[in-house]
Amino acid sequence: MTGSGPTIVAALLGALIGSFLNVCIHRLPRGASIVWPASACPSCGHQLDWFENIPIVSYLVLRGRCRTCAKPISGRYPVVEGLTALMFAAAWWNYGPGVLLVSRILLGCALIVLFAIDLEHHLLPNVITLPGIAVGFAFSLVTDPGWLASLIGIIVGGGVLYAIAEVYFRVRHEEGLGMGDVKMLAMIGAFIGWKLAIVTLMMASLAGAVVGLLLIATGRGDMKYALPFGTFLALGAAVAATVGTPLLDWYLRFW
Ligand SMILES: [Zn+2]
Repeated sequence: MTGSGPTIVAALLGALIGSFLNVCIHRLPRGASIVWPASACPSCGHQLDWFENIPIVSYLVLRGRCRTCAKPISGRYPVVEGLTALMFAAAWWNYGPGVLLVSRILLGCALIVLFAIDLEHHLLPNVITLPGIAVGFAFSLVTDPGWLASLIGIIVGGGVLYAIAEVYFRVRHEEGLGMGDVKMLAMIGAFIGWKLAIVTLMMASLAGAVVGLLLIATGRGDMKYALPFGTFLALGAAVAATVGTPLLDWYLRFW
């Protein structure tokens, strides 16, 4: 079912899709169309030729600079392309051909886009999270985690974060979590079910706490440093979707 040949094809396809995800990451927060116009240098507006648009390769050949104005190109481009290639290969390896593969790849793409946009802009666009909830639920009718686990995932994923956001707001009188985080975890719950949505939240909180403490320890932020929680939710969901079930089984043995 799996082999190195198809895995390499999956990775190449992933790099191409990653190139499109970069367009989404750049344009969605700016309210620009993701299908028109063609990609251009954000500094000088030079429209990219096909050979400047080859995932990862072009960045390396151009040594991370625009061919026309020589301004540096964001390292995010090759990183997102490489990450998407890796995600496609890992998903193919993990799930093999089938509906679940398509579902998990769509989730993976949404997570990569949300990860990058939240990191840069502290923003989780509705245009991804809301359709994501519907798409995740639609897939659950025919594949994992099943429609009931998906439905509970939407309610629990969104509900738990909504409750935390409410409590935080009442105690601290400021917004700690945004509604974007609530919708994002609801989307994750729709795709992977309520159990893995809880694993996602635990992993994200753990990662957030570790990074937060590191920032404080290195003097680069204090307790109020606003960490983009959606970025951690994306990391948590990636862990939950790949190793969440064995992790949960292992954890529950201690109860
Ligand atoms: Zn340029």
